[in-house]
Amino acid sequence: MLIDSFNRVHNYLRISLTDNCNLRCFYCMPEEDYEFTPHSRLMQPEEIESLAKLFVDNGVSKIRLTGGEPLVRKDAADIILRLAKLPVKLTLTTNATRLHDFVNVLEEAKVSSLNISLDTLDSDKFNIITRRDSFKKVMDNIHLMIDRNFHVKVNVVVMKGMNEHEINDFVAWTKDVPVHVRFIEFMPFEGNRWTSNQVFTWKEMLEEISRKYSPVALKGDIHDTAKKYSIEGHKGTFAIISTMSSPFCAGCNRMRLTADGKMKNCLFSQEETDLLTALRKGDDVLPLIQDSIRSKAKELGGQFTKDFEKIHTEDLHNRSMISIGG
Ligand code: SAM
Ligand code: SF4
Repeated sequence: MLIDSFNRVHNYLRISLTDNCNLRCFYCMPEEDYEFTPHSRLMQPEEIESLAKLFVDNGVSKIRLTGGEPLVRKDAADIILRLAKLPVKLTLTTNATRLHDFVNVLEEAKVSSLNISLDTLDSDKFNIITRRDSFKKVMDNIHLMIDRNFHVKVNVVVMKGMNEHEINDFVAWTKDVPVHVRFIEFMPFEGNRWTSNQVFTWKEMLEEISRKYSPVALKGDIHDTAKKYSIEGHKGTFAIISTMSSPFCAGCNRMRLTADGKMKNCLFSQEETDLLTALRKGDDVLPLIQDSIRSKAKELGGQFTKDFEKIHTEDLHNRSMISIGG
């Protein structure tokens, strides 16, 4: 088992398949010319399989594939089907633009739950946020996956002045559609021009929703990143991910592997451990993983505290979100 110095058992691994993407969400991909990692430096399917197996042999029971956009990788189906053979719950975070080509593969791999990103219900605003014109494709694919009985969670990054007044439109969507909306507080990463006054906190979100609805808090699990709510008569639910104003590090069970094979023990960690180079050299990788977990900070990568108003982004050392894997 992978246990850190705060006795947290780590059984959930997020693997980024690529830092490439067909959208350009401004809060995720730096505006300056971003250079995608060349294919030869990405983990290859058999390398992903072998590292994933090592994690699973050491207690990992859930793997989420992410990116960049995982489904832009030409060998994404091969990777999904390889990982499907491991005894884990396999899930995927995607922008949904390519899901129509992957329905059968995901069904074959028994991936039953998907996280899909969509920050607005307005197609013009979608173009502004993602710098691409794919709103209709994303919406069609969300409905396609719901029709095919996938459990669909929709991730909405809430940014003050951009989309906070759409929160109740998203909640209204859950009335007749069994969709599970997750509002995420805007987080700072390299190159995303985050400022604390753009954070719309979970308390503010809940206040906004409570003006129109009577949400009921649902019972959570210690590892949950989301505070979950239901509304009577709604087929779907909503949840709030309060990383900035109320972090949930005490129950953290998550680790990350970047597309170029570096392990991060926290989304906000400065340190990375190069597992891919060790694997390619034929070295023993497990001690590296164990050391990384042992050195995990108590909260927020040791880089800031929940007083997010005090964060100076120039003092943070981290990759951009697109190159970490959300
Ligand atoms: N391309 C896929 C997608 O968009 O779902 C997977 C990768 S994306 C980096 C994973 C998640 O990170 C998305 O839900 C996205 O909204 C979220 N994300 C990216 N940058 C963020 C930020 N600055 N603050 C909060 N969430 C962010
Ligand atoms: Fe691409 Fe997802 Fe980042 Fe948007 S959030 S740029 S879809 S990786």
